[in-house]
Amino acid sequence: MITKAEVEELLSSYDVSSLKVSTICSHSALQIFHGAKQLGFKTLGVTTPERRFVYEAFPLATPDKFIEVSEFKHMLDRWVQERLRAENAVIIPHGSFVEYLGPTEILERLRVPVFGNRAVLEWEGDRVKQRTWFKEAGLKTPRVFEDPSEVDCRVFVKFPGAKGGRGYFTAGSSEEVEARLEEAVRKGLIRDVREAYIQEFIPGVRYYFHYFYSPLAEGGLRVCGGRLELMSMDKRIEPIDEAYRGLPDVPEEFFDYTVTGNQPLVLRESLLKDALKMGARVVEASKRLFPPGIIGPFCLETIYHPDRGFTVFEVSARIVAGTNLYPSGSPYTVYLFEEPMSTGKRIAVELKMAVEKDRLREVVY
Ligand code: ATP
Repeated sequence: MITKAEVEELLSSYDVSSLKVSTICSHSALQIFHGAKQLGFKTLGVTTPERRFVYEAFPLATPDKFIEVSEFKHMLDRWVQERLRAENAVIIPHGSFVEYLGPTEILERLRVPVFGNRAVLEWEGDRVKQRTWFKEAGLKTPRVFEDPSEVDCRVFVKFPGAKGGRGYFTAGSSEEVEARLEEAVRKGLIRDVREAYIQEFIPGVRYYFHYFYSPLAEGGLRVCGGRLELMSMDKRIEPIDEAYRGLPDVPEEFFDYTVTGNQPLVLRESLLKDALKMGARVVEASKRLFPPGIIGPFCLETIYHPDRGFTVFEVSARIVAGTNLYPSGSPYTVYLFEEPMSTGKRIAVELKMAVEKDRLREVVY
């Protein structure tokens, strides 16, 4: 694994007065480039040739430079990494970056400074580690069943990797879980039934909270010496949400949990205390488990039940696509900042602050 000391060594050869904000042209890259440009940073997009026009089609979010690769995984190629370092690039991780490169490859092979703490990728990508993190944070999480035979309630079954909900299903008994897992193997969704992750099905309303943790900012909600900001929230749209349209005989294709879009939302104000406390506990636990802990944007995926409160079923330890709803701020950022603020821009603000305070080492790894 690339150590923090190695990354600090790389940084020592950087011209920090001309850092370039860089990411893969996908996911939330428009927001990231747009925000960085507003702060006066130069930007660098790693793109495939056929995607480049998309990023040229939005001039205020077009990166100043492109590096073209035939496939995103080639970002790990030596010549790309050398070029990124020569350009003083700091990479902003997002969902597609993690998916295309893979957490292990990023940890083992990417010798370019990454915004935040890259050690978090290990904790986010491994469901067992994620559960340890939630437990350490004292959060309510769904029960997990190690084996289909243990199932004693309605369950939600997931498959490994960030497949965005593809093939996930609910089932009401051990027999049903077993039968459907065998079917998933036949369809090639998994190789072995033991790859499936069987969770208690949580009924309720879904809320996806977008946070930003800054070790540098002052004021606001203080957590471990830094500031926790609740930037915004969204609800993901999944085909299952529209199942009623197929009534009375709901067609098979509605039973699909793949994310297809995001809706903005605000929370009943009396519930904000819960959202803030959950975020704070996740930060505190991260500092104990993998110091210096989580830095920058992250998202808690939750389900609210009137009697049980919030259950957290997933953490995304980087900017999430739901923040794309708020390129010029959200109903919460107006109470945090004097100016319009997206999560992409917030990252640039942190980088700028870090350069000015000579504390860049604290916010990249
Ligand atoms: P992504 O990488 O896009 O976040 P994922 O593969 O990590 O997807 P999840 O986000 O964990 O999958 O789940 C996908 C969807 O399934 C959720 O948005 C939610 O609608 C539903 N879901 C997940 N876990 C549960 C649960 N325990 N109970 C009820 N519904 C759930």
